[in-house]
Amino acid sequence: MNAEIIAVGSELLLGQIANTNAKFISSQLSELGINVYFHTVVGDNGSRLQDAIKIAEERADLIIFSGGLGPTKDDLTKETIANHLGLPLVFDHEALTYIEEFFAKYGRTMTENNKKQALVLEGCKVLANHNGMAPGMFLEHNDRIYMLLPGPPKEIEPMFQFEAKPLLAKKVSDDGMIVSHVLRFYGIGEAELEVQVQDILDNQTNPTVAPLASDGEVTLRITAKAQTEEEAWKLIHAKKTEIQAIVGKYQYGVDDDSLTSKTVEMLLHNGLTISAAESLTAGLFQSELAEISGVSGTLVGGVVTYTEEAKVNQLGIDQVLLDQFGVVSSECAGAMAANVRKKFCTDIGIGLTGAAGPDPHDEQPAGTIWIGFAIGDDEPVTRKLELSGMRNTNRLRAVKYACSYLMRLLEEKGYKRV
Ligand code: ATP
Ligand code: MG
Repeated sequence: MNAEIIAVGSELLLGQIANTNAKFISSQLSELGINVYFHTVVGDNGSRLQDAIKIAEERADLIIFSGGLGPTKDDLTKETIANHLGLPLVFDHEALTYIEEFFAKYGRTMTENNKKQALVLEGCKVLANHNGMAPGMFLEHNDRIYMLLPGPPKEIEPMFQFEAKPLLAKKVSDDGMIVSHVLRFYGIGEAELEVQVQDILDNQTNPTVAPLASDGEVTLRITAKAQTEEEAWKLIHAKKTEIQAIVGKYQYGVDDDSLTSKTVEMLLHNGLTISAAESLTAGLFQSELAEISGVSGTLVGGVVTYTEEAKVNQLGIDQVLLDQFGVVSSECAGAMAANVRKKFCTDIGIGLTGAAGPDPHDEQPAGTIWIGFAIGDDEPVTRKLELSGMRNTNRLRAVKYACSYLMRLLEEKGYKRV
């Protein structure tokens, strides 16, 4: 099965919003093993939408529409499709009741055009909308599937996940089960990873292996097709073992793991507490850790010491050290880590300092970053990064590297990863 996504909305063409719905649906379809060959964007215009439908019908088995299901005049997706396929629109009573109850609940008067939202293509399966009023539609017609979904992300995402995806999964599973599994790597570039697993990439059939890079991370998605889920997992595990034998030391997690979630899990598992002194990241390290629930079991606190004075006054860093080595230095990062650890009485202290860019700082080129790790009473260990990204990319990467290095350092000291 191959798919095309048609996003309808003039605001997309005007550059007012990004087509995040297409991105979302594409990633969902890839999990199902459905190939997406085209993304189309068309404005709120019936005749151009019809042209787009005709083109999509030439090249896709599954056509997914996003947007234009609402009550206003410019919402014309289903009307255009109905007209194109020669199908009537009929009232769906459940959807109509839902809309009426919605207005009653909020004490608002329902205008006549709101009823229009309960009109659906005759013969379709109605996809319930629990976060808005317009229902979605799943229509099988002339060997093709037409799926109509609402525009707002908070409506389309749950509708796709809970209503549409199971229907598609069932369609796909008629010719086998598709399972995919993502391996996550850090500390190795995409090009380097590809070179190392070149043979696997060149000789893939089932499972397939697809690399993807973003934000300094690289992932490999393994997708297997088999008669049963169990058989698919068997294929995946065999391929995973093969990959891990080559680049396993860079792998930090799988599927929805993140570097921060793995770091927090490792710290919690080993009963370790942590604090951070942040210069260039100005709190980002702690903020990223704090996205993980349960982090209060390990993150005690920290300080933002942006200026030299703050480093001296708040952290007690020796002015002589700063004069001698500068703030962007191994010595400063190590002292920040050691001092914050003492200040917050934690097992681990992290120090982050550097020139985020775009300008050099303290005679160090943009992208020069030092990270200090004070673990127990041992001498602090430091690591240098020389990044070439934009300012905020560098700040985020500093956080990710800090997590990645920390996990490695702890492992070397005998702590277990989770
Ligand atoms: P509504 O009932 O809100 O009118 P709708 O199904 O008619 O929903 P649209 O009117 O096309 O959808 O879009 C509503 C809003 O949804 C847009 O203003 C925009 O914020 C968001 N939206 C629409 N299409 C997309 C898209 N492709 N990607 C991300 N957001 C989108
Ligand atoms: Mg609308």
